[in-house]
Amino acid sequence: MKRILASILALACPGDADPQNTVLVEAEAFEDVGGWVIDQQFMDLMGSPYLLAHGIGIPVEDARTTVEFPRAGVYRVWVRTRDWVAPWNAPGAPGRLQLVVDGTALTTTFGTEGEAWHWQDGGEVRVGLSAEIALHDLTGFEGRCDAIVFCQDTGWTVPNGKDELALFRRKALGLADRPEVTLEYDLVVVGGGVAGTSAAVTAAREGLQVALVQDRPVLGGNSSSEVRVWPQGHVNQKPYPRIGDVVMDLVPERREDSRNAQNAEVFDDDRKLRVVRAEPNITLYLERRVNEAHAEGGRILSVTAQHVRTAVRTRIRGRWFLDSTGDGAVGFLVGADHDVTRTGHMGASNLWNIQCLCEDEDPLSSVLEEACELAAFPRCPWAVDLTDKPFPGRTKGAKSPETGGGDKPISLGNWFWESGFDRDPIEDMERIRDQNLRAMYGAWDAIKNVEKRYPAHKLNWVAYIAGKRESRRLLGDVILTAEDLRDGREFEDGCFPCTWGIDTHFPDPAYQGGHEGDEFIADYTRGEGYTYEGPYWAPYRCLYSRNIDNLFMAGRDISVTHEALGAVRVMKTTGAMGEIVGMAASLCKRFDCDPRAVYAEHLGELKTLMMRGAGRSAAEGASEE
Ligand SMILES: Cc1cc2nc3c(=O)[nH]c(=O)nc-3n(C[C@H](O)[C@H](O)[C@H](O)COP(=O)(O)OP(=O)(O)OC[C@H]3O[C@@H](n4cnc5c(N)ncnc54)[C@H](O)[C@@H]3O)c2cc1C
Repeated sequence: MKRILASILALACPGDADPQNTVLVEAEAFEDVGGWVIDQQFMDLMGSPYLLAHGIGIPVEDARTTVEFPRAGVYRVWVRTRDWVAPWNAPGAPGRLQLVVDGTALTTTFGTEGEAWHWQDGGEVRVGLSAEIALHDLTGFEGRCDAIVFCQDTGWTVPNGKDELALFRRKALGLADRPEVTLEYDLVVVGGGVAGTSAAVTAAREGLQVALVQDRPVLGGNSSSEVRVWPQGHVNQKPYPRIGDVVMDLVPERREDSRNAQNAEVFDDDRKLRVVRAEPNITLYLERRVNEAHAEGGRILSVTAQHVRTAVRTRIRGRWFLDSTGDGAVGFLVGADHDVTRTGHMGASNLWNIQCLCEDEDPLSSVLEEACELAAFPRCPWAVDLTDKPFPGRTKGAKSPETGGGDKPISLGNWFWESGFDRDPIEDMERIRDQNLRAMYGAWDAIKNVEKRYPAHKLNWVAYIAGKRESRRLLGDVILTAEDLRDGREFEDGCFPCTWGIDTHFPDPAYQGGHEGDEFIADYTRGEGYTYEGPYWAPYRCLYSRNIDNLFMAGRDISVTHEALGAVRVMKTTGAMGEIVGMAASLCKRFDCDPRAVYAEHLGELKTLMMRGAGRSAAEGASEE
């Protein structure tokens, strides 16, 4: 395993710490993260990306780095971590880990104390001028480490308050007080799901200089191999058959197994990157999370993105901005009018699948051949206790397949494994993701150890990136309602085709008992009252903010009601929104105007672009930051 010098610096700490005797090591900055994964999803909440031991029951390989110390001697050590099942008072602290310094593990076991992110005291350690440190996962069950601090000043404790901690990090990492500043782009797209990527490609093909900012190393959002949702909806519909051309450039070739939660190749991350990189007008900012924005007089001037591994900040300037984060993150930062359904909204899912160890078998078969290897799985007393409770995929008490259940492997880990219906979809998100994981581990424990089924199967893949369905919706000049869809209300600026039913989710009553408040299986609205005649062309005025003049929206954070979101949220539809935004942004540039004026003064020109479409590939490559 490669040993690397991490970006570790001995610098000034706030409080009483002596600048010459304190070292901060950011876990995500370990150059060799071993089997750990970098999780940036909650960094706005708990202050930083962190390393997660997502081994689905098998301890992951150590993460390693070399630390240089300002002087040899004895240091007190803290590890920022938490017991991730503590919110449920669940026993066993499954996310246990050790810190190994020069080959010797500290006696403290980390990840065992309390639900909040905190600095767990690891006692003292003697080091020379440099030491190799390793994060050693003890369980394979989602242990987490944000950072490590070594300090010689025994009277000092590491700050944990949001602002203090941010200041401490900045100083300790030697980060500049001011971010790097870019030139001004025509369009800055924040969020590289299908919506944002389609917008970036369309705008670039229309000749705009575009920045595309995405907080993961891949594009596609829920349709990436990290989340594995297959894009649905219909595009290329009359009277605008070219709307959808860019979307279909991005969507992978359909195969027999093009369904949710299948293997990574189905979701073809490279394809999306290839399409974007073929556009010379796009500058792609991967692994950058926007967490600050500057606006004046109702206009955004720039957004600031933080690199997920290095913490370096870049201020990205632009004339027009697109919020395609799903969460309305940019709009929220600049005070855009928005709405959130606080309780009774759609939840989030962490899809998963299982695999048979018998190579000759259908991977989803439950038949055990004699030659098969047995796959043991430990009891999980800290998971949701499903010993005697029904869930989809279980022999007893499972619902019929058409309502999302069924006694089939495909029922395990599919879209209806969903939680967080009544929890804040931003503030409670780590808890929501973790509840999905607890439900999944509880189900697999019950199947393997109580029912004793699937003896030769293992958990094969589990998303640690949550697939989100609903959070903030930014408000535009029109707020599309389900009534509009049902009544077939025509808008003169109808521009993206909706074809999906009015499909919202709620806790499935068949599986609710005993889990009230923490339900993890969903049902969906369907049948009479939830259909409409499609394609329904939804209005352009849902795609820009009503109070931030240069802000577009595309994706699940557009201007719709909770119910209408059920129809517009599928990804070919969100991609079509992106195409429209790309075209509208080009008109903003051509006529030196803002999104609202495209409706008020240039709707004819927008329709001309919609007839023409943007489905052609450019010859040269994009630049990458
Ligand atoms: C389990 C599940 C099943 C579903 N089933 C289907 C289905 O079968 N077919 C279908 O078409 N749709 C389905 N949906 C709905 C669909 O996936 C979502 O509505 C869709 O992802 C919305 O697209 P989007 O581009 O708005 O958001 P996303 O796909 O969420 O993309 C947003 C991207 O922005 C990034 N981002 C967020 N914040 C920031 C920030 N501050 N800075 C930088 N980047 C940021 C995110 O990492 C993400 O990659 C399903 C959803 C789920 C969760």
